[in-house]
Amino acid sequence: MNIEEVQSTAKKQRIATHTHIRGLGLEPSGRAIDMAAGFVGQKEAREAAGLVVDMIKQKKMAGRALLLAGPPGTGKTALALGVSQELGTKVPFCPMVGSEVYSSEVKKTEVLMENFRRAIGLRIKENKEVTELSPEETESLTGGYGKSIGGVIIGLKTIKGTKQLRLEASIYDALIKEKVAVGDVIYIEANSGAVKRVGRSDAFATEFDLEAEEYVPLPKGEVSKKKEIVQDVTLHDLDAANARPQGGQDILSLMGQMMKPRKTEITDKLRQEINKVVNGFIDKGTAELVPGVLFIDEVHMLDMECFSYLNRALESSLSPIVIFATNRGICNVRGTDMNSPHGIPVDLLDRLVIIRTQTYGPAEMIQILAIRAQVEELRIDEESLAELGEIGQRTSLRHAVQLLSPASIVAKLNGREEICKADLEEVCTLYLDAKSSAKLLQDQQEKAPK
Ligand code: ATP
Repeated sequence: MNIEEVQSTAKKQRIATHTHIRGLGLEPSGRAIDMAAGFVGQKEAREAAGLVVDMIKQKKMAGRALLLAGPPGTGKTALALGVSQELGTKVPFCPMVGSEVYSSEVKKTEVLMENFRRAIGLRIKENKEVTELSPEETESLTGGYGKSIGGVIIGLKTIKGTKQLRLEASIYDALIKEKVAVGDVIYIEANSGAVKRVGRSDAFATEFDLEAEEYVPLPKGEVSKKKEIVQDVTLHDLDAANARPQGGQDILSLMGQMMKPRKTEITDKLRQEINKVVNGFIDKGTAELVPGVLFIDEVHMLDMECFSYLNRALESSLSPIVIFATNRGICNVRGTDMNSPHGIPVDLLDRLVIIRTQTYGPAEMIQILAIRAQVEELRIDEESLAELGEIGQRTSLRHAVQLLSPASIVAKLNGREEICKADLEEVCTLYLDAKSSAKLLQDQQEKAPK
């Protein structure tokens, strides 16, 4: 199987609204630039986060974690993402919400463990034989029965009676779908042209009891070149890919099994085995660990059991950088009758570096909204942008950001390319922000006959 085709299990949707964030936007001296790397304002928090990045790079954050404390909609997720980007490209960022641990099917610590492993990357470097051929070279090497797909030559084996079969586009699609690689054999059904099976050449011949002339061996040796391939995966990708018992312990079979992501149970035993294999690669120098960022929003939703787990996990040598966020002050620690700052038990609080985030003023909100409009390729006039900024001040930044897409749809329905004030007014009557919606329900309840 081809390393290039490995699929990641990263949670992309959750960071979709933060695509404009490309770092913390700091000068080399560590000072925050007004508007940089997609960031606007929140300068003290960005500078403080920059120092944490330095500490991480100097390995001074081991056993510790970062807490972002501030009102909703003050860019805590954006800051955490910025930290991960400052740590380097391809550093995994895994966002989760505290309440995610409460599932009826999976243990709380299991959910945490999975997310920990999603936040630890592995960079694998491999010298692999690859073939890169022009269509003409491929044609001449395989007598018209082969094709180079994605730089890999497909050696087509022919079964008696199918030799005349010309490859249709649909067959190429099937080849790609089946992830056919160098040395693979396919069997094309004579009548339907369906790709029946993919196997390695010798095994295939034995299994189907074919004689030598019934398939054409690949001219593999003549056309392969060595090339270094770098592949970034997370430990969870490897866990998930190997959850179904099959394959060997070499890197290729480990990667090869990543093709079909599915919900299967990942056991502790499996994780230990993966760790063993991974440590082997690291010792050999073929792979290196890339600790990423695990972002746990609404940390006050976690309970005592989770906090004890986190305390232990932070000590592990295989720990990512953990960033917590909360908008709570003193509150109950779930699963106990204690109150504590941010609902976090004291022993974990002791490990935390705490950064405060502040609410945005109108000018900053407008700038953020303008960036989002640009990223989402929406046009909005100045007046509406200011109006949206005001809506953001009254409700929340997130609500204002979320009004952009429906407003642009309304604008289009009204035959305009640019969002204007009337469109905003229309969507405002259609969608309530959380506060107004709660108030409305409460008013109705009070008015309802008892
Ligand atoms: P929180 O976790 O504090 O609720 P968040 O980061 O999850 O915040 P919001 O603060 O609701 O998200 O942010 C709404 C949108 O504004 C997001 O697209 C976010 O990336 C963006 N945003 C927030 N703060 C900034 C900032 N200082 N500069 C640029 N974009 C920002």
